[in-house]
Amino acid sequence: MEIIVAPNAGLCYGVKRALNLVRKIRRQRTGAVTTLGDLIHNPGVIQELKSQGIGSAETPEEIPEGTVIIRSHGVSPEVYDILERRRLDVVDATCPIVHRIQKRIAALARRNIEIILVGDREHPEIRGLVGHSRGKALVLDTEESATLLPIAKKRAALAQSTLDLSLFKKIVAEILERTAELSAFNTICQFTQARQKSTSELARRVEALFIVGGRLSSNTAKLYHISRRILPRTHFIESAAEIRPEMLEGVERIGISGGASTPPEAIDKVVRTIRAGLEPNPRMEKNVPCPK
Ligand code: SF4
Repeated sequence: MEIIVAPNAGLCYGVKRALNLVRKIRRQRTGAVTTLGDLIHNPGVIQELKSQGIGSAETPEEIPEGTVIIRSHGVSPEVYDILERRRLDVVDATCPIVHRIQKRIAALARRNIEIILVGDREHPEIRGLVGHSRGKALVLDTEESATLLPIAKKRAALAQSTLDLSLFKKIVAEILERTAELSAFNTICQFTQARQKSTSELARRVEALFIVGGRLSSNTAKLYHISRRILPRTHFIESAAEIRPEMLEGVERIGISGGASTPPEAIDKVVRTIRAGLEPNPRMEKNVPCPK
């Protein structure tokens, strides 16, 4: 029996950076420290942050005082304005990769170019990006929605940083059919692309694959769907406690991967749980460094 952990599985550069920053701020400051939205879609880590006195609020209005941390997804310019008006001490943990997408969108909006964002309209990153377009961007999430676009002379298409690359390509092809001059920017972050690639490669090599991550994590869900298309025996689990014996039945080679918000401890625990009933020494493949 062989257990293989996908290279790049687990916490991405932007989420790691935000977590380190919030922990550092907590050590340095005595007043209230609150993240605007959960810092990471992982119940275990949220609980740990809470126990260290780091709160979470859904809206700026819910934060009475102290330090507010903007998470890696980033926020719209309107949210920065509200935080400033409320005189909160803002620490910006927006991922630099997301920040670059925000700047590109703002520049396109200034040139009055019609902007199409491909992603989940309810995702905080997309809501922030729409804000940086001054509300001008149109969000598409399916090929079908792209077929309804009217003909236009000029458009720009960009992706949510954690989008499935194959979906972006399909939607861009539909937009191109209806646009004379299209600038398509592949803004899916390199780290996401590397994780999707290594997970799909792993799905071809193993007989069962566990995707570990929070149920609310959209990038973990995408990873699950990518693997499931290749390997029906793909299981989406939030923790090792969800592994059932039938998931391992008749399996000689097991793969494990995790989303951008899955801490290494959660992946290690899955490895240890599987190994407890199987053979020792899982084969851990070398991690590829995160892009800066
Ligand atoms: S997935 Fe990529 S863009 Fe998003 S926070 Fe992580 S490193 Fe940054």
